[in-house]
Amino acid sequence: MADNILPDNMPALLPTYARQDVYFERGEGCYLFDDQGQKYLDFVAGIAVCALGHAHPTVVQALTAQAGKLWIMSNYYKSHSAERLAQRLADVSFADTVFFQNSGVEAWELGCKIVRKYFSSIGQPQRYRIITFQGCFHGRTLAAIAAAKTEKMVKGFGPMTDGFDQVAWGNLNELRAAITPETAAIHIEPVQGEGGLRVASHDFMHAIKKVADEFGLLLFFDEIQCGLGRTGKLWAYEWSGITPDVMCIAKALGNGFPIGACLATAKAAQGMTAGTHGTTYGGNPLGTEVAHAVLDAITTQEMLAHVGDVGNYLQQKFKQLMHDFPGVFIEHRGVGLMQGLKTTVPVAELIDALRAEKLLVASTSDHVLRVLPPLIVTRAQIDEAVGIIARVAARYAQKAA
Ligand SMILES: *Cc1c(COP(=O)(O)O)cnc(C)c1O
Repeated sequence: MADNILPDNMPALLPTYARQDVYFERGEGCYLFDDQGQKYLDFVAGIAVCALGHAHPTVVQALTAQAGKLWIMSNYYKSHSAERLAQRLADVSFADTVFFQNSGVEAWELGCKIVRKYFSSIGQPQRYRIITFQGCFHGRTLAAIAAAKTEKMVKGFGPMTDGFDQVAWGNLNELRAAITPETAAIHIEPVQGEGGLRVASHDFMHAIKKVADEFGLLLFFDEIQCGLGRTGKLWAYEWSGITPDVMCIAKALGNGFPIGACLATAKAAQGMTAGTHGTTYGGNPLGTEVAHAVLDAITTQEMLAHVGDVGNYLQQKFKQLMHDFPGVFIEHRGVGLMQGLKTTVPVAELIDALRAEKLLVASTSDHVLRVLPPLIVTRAQIDEAVGIIARVAARYAQKAA
């Protein structure tokens, strides 16, 4: 009987994405090439992953050199590459200690574990709850969807993992009211990615820090998308000067090779002793060697200054688009090379129209056209992209008139 309700057209690849109808074969810098040889300007970059562009020579060199030597030896054994990478990340951040995972959500979930273990290790195991903000996104594990609470992500996947309380973005009264004797940490993306490119103001970051200090809470940041240079500083938290106790990063760290990391202060990580956490693949030498090459390129003053420059240029151009097409674009969002325009056009339709003109862009959950170009993008490539957006927007403006 059960057979009768099985769909007979289930694709072999589980269809949880409404994938766009294009197959890419090759990438080079800020461009992708499809299987018909067509060239596209890539302002998605694997969703803020490919920071140095596709097939970046030093990153390819790091991966291929390591591929001929050693892929994995297990975390039973020491690794110079991982130790040095951890030290480098600690040297350029607030952190004292770092652990490597294979993805963003794994690094994020380790952050949650570190928060819980900290309070347990100081004799307050009753404090385990983490406060998150509406519009946040931390990945798709059971814990991460429980933290984000977005309906499309949680529906049908209950019961939800306990331990996450959510308050409105930017609302200090709600934040204070949500704190109980069980609260352990406040968690925020300094710049929200998937949730709508909302930038936490300096005042808000300082206020969160004050509340955390007042109640003895840890601060936990998710810089998986906004970290590693994307906002024009190495870490987005540098804009406010407020440092976290725990922070997860990933996306740009491997430029496309899967690697994530959780960074923490010695104090926050004090409970994480031998045997308390592990991973089979995390910290493998392929990933850590790639990440070294990525850090070589991203942590330079020139690269960060470049992102600042092209980020400002993109902002001017986007504000001009809003001015020129007021019926199509109604709000500017974001900072650096994570910016967007809220649009009156159904955003999926706009993405298709832009792809037909050979520009790849993303969106956010609330109708914002979102661009996340490689950090190496040039002013000329921004002109190219904005020219295409203007051409497509003009068609919609005409239709409306
Ligand atoms: C992408 C992302 C994640 C999840 O990373 P995965 O590698 O997909 O698990 C978590 N948090 C933020 C802010 C992200 O942008």
